[in-house]
Amino acid sequence: MYDLIIRNSTIVTEAELLHADVGITDQQIVAIAPELAGTAGDMIDARGLHLFPGGIDPHVHCNEPGRTDWEGFATATAALAAGGVTCCFDMPLNAHPPTCDVAAFDAKLAALKPNALIDVALWGGLVPGNLAELDGLAERGVIGFKAFMSTSGTSDFVAADDLTLYEGMRRAASLGKIVAVHAENDTITTELARRAIADGRLGVRDYLASRPIIAELEAIGRAIVLASETGCALHIVHVSTGRGIALVAEAQARGIDVSCETCPHYLILTEADVERIGALAKCAPPLRTAEHIDALWQHVRNGTVPMISSDHSPAPADMKIGENFFAIWGGISGCQSTLSLLLTEGYTRRGISLSQVAALTAGGTARRFGLWPAKGQIAIGADADLALVDLNHEAELHAEDLFYRHKHSPYVGMRLRGRVVRTFVRGATVFRDGQVHTTGSGHFVGVGNKS
Ligand code: ZN
Repeated sequence: MYDLIIRNSTIVTEAELLHADVGITDQQIVAIAPELAGTAGDMIDARGLHLFPGGIDPHVHCNEPGRTDWEGFATATAALAAGGVTCCFDMPLNAHPPTCDVAAFDAKLAALKPNALIDVALWGGLVPGNLAELDGLAERGVIGFKAFMSTSGTSDFVAADDLTLYEGMRRAASLGKIVAVHAENDTITTELARRAIADGRLGVRDYLASRPIIAELEAIGRAIVLASETGCALHIVHVSTGRGIALVAEAQARGIDVSCETCPHYLILTEADVERIGALAKCAPPLRTAEHIDALWQHVRNGTVPMISSDHSPAPADMKIGENFFAIWGGISGCQSTLSLLLTEGYTRRGISLSQVAALTAGGTARRFGLWPAKGQIAIGADADLALVDLNHEAELHAEDLFYRHKHSPYVGMRLRGRVVRTFVRGATVFRDGQVHTTGSGHFVGVGNKS
């Protein structure tokens, strides 16, 4: 007797595609076998559908508390659930107050608990002056600490200078926590922006030129030196170029504990798309050219990039318009579409296997951030975090399909393959056939310190 049996789907694991039934009891997967014997409270015939491990998005800005007019846990997690994501890591910034001390952490936890539809883990912040707060944040179970090496875009989250990074990494290392950095050189990006604005060069191309690849490469290199020196585990968020990924791979080969993520927008959209789409495709680091996209896919294919994050960074529509492209809010709304984008561009067009898609959307993140083996895979004993997907479905993405508070995205209008039919968080249906099903069922996922 099970709580739920999902029959006849094609199960996507990192090792293989498996035709079998899945038995779920007490929120966990307890059996995987063809023609599973026994009865269940609920039985689903999933013939013709693929069963993916629920996505784990390591980089989302839910903006709650403090900026719920931009997003919020209820809408962000509804969108994630609709995209087959069952756990996300919320960033410390864009919420106000940012999650840089335990009081802010507790305020965020209080906002999350009644509203999150899926499981949520929290990043703490590393900013100048909050070194003494890192222990308390670690005790509360943050994933790790996020720092900006360039100006963040919100004045309440100050960029970490080199000494803050050095001392913060030293402390994080002793706490067994990862430090994640937004890696762009602040001197280069700020000064190039200042010059452009002073000259009245305020267009899309001027913005793109103010954040050159060297700014990313220099910052990644510096962060790696600091991590190496302090023994701190390092994660580079949203790497935009293959050369940036290559720096990470070289450091790994030297034994340095460093990982990275990239995002669908860097894998799919180009500079020309920013000109065409406008501010909905503005982000930092900015989008690059087609040849950089090819290099990034090469790293995805060979496994150097173990995870894909959305860096969902939403804002109201009126913050995405204006004559001065530098002044417009930079951030892409996309977390609902990650799986479909990978199925469309990765699996269908570039021959990335479904098993690899599962690794990129779930397993890679779970392993790096300490959630494995309970999350990130379809296996006996793991949480029943699952997404049933119809791979034969292909449709244009419409704004009204989106569950974000503000229904815009650079992916609107694209033809996407793979429709999420149903999403389960620890066995409970949270999304089904275009409808969000339950509310407030997500848990806070605390991550223990490494011993
Ligand atoms: Zn971000």
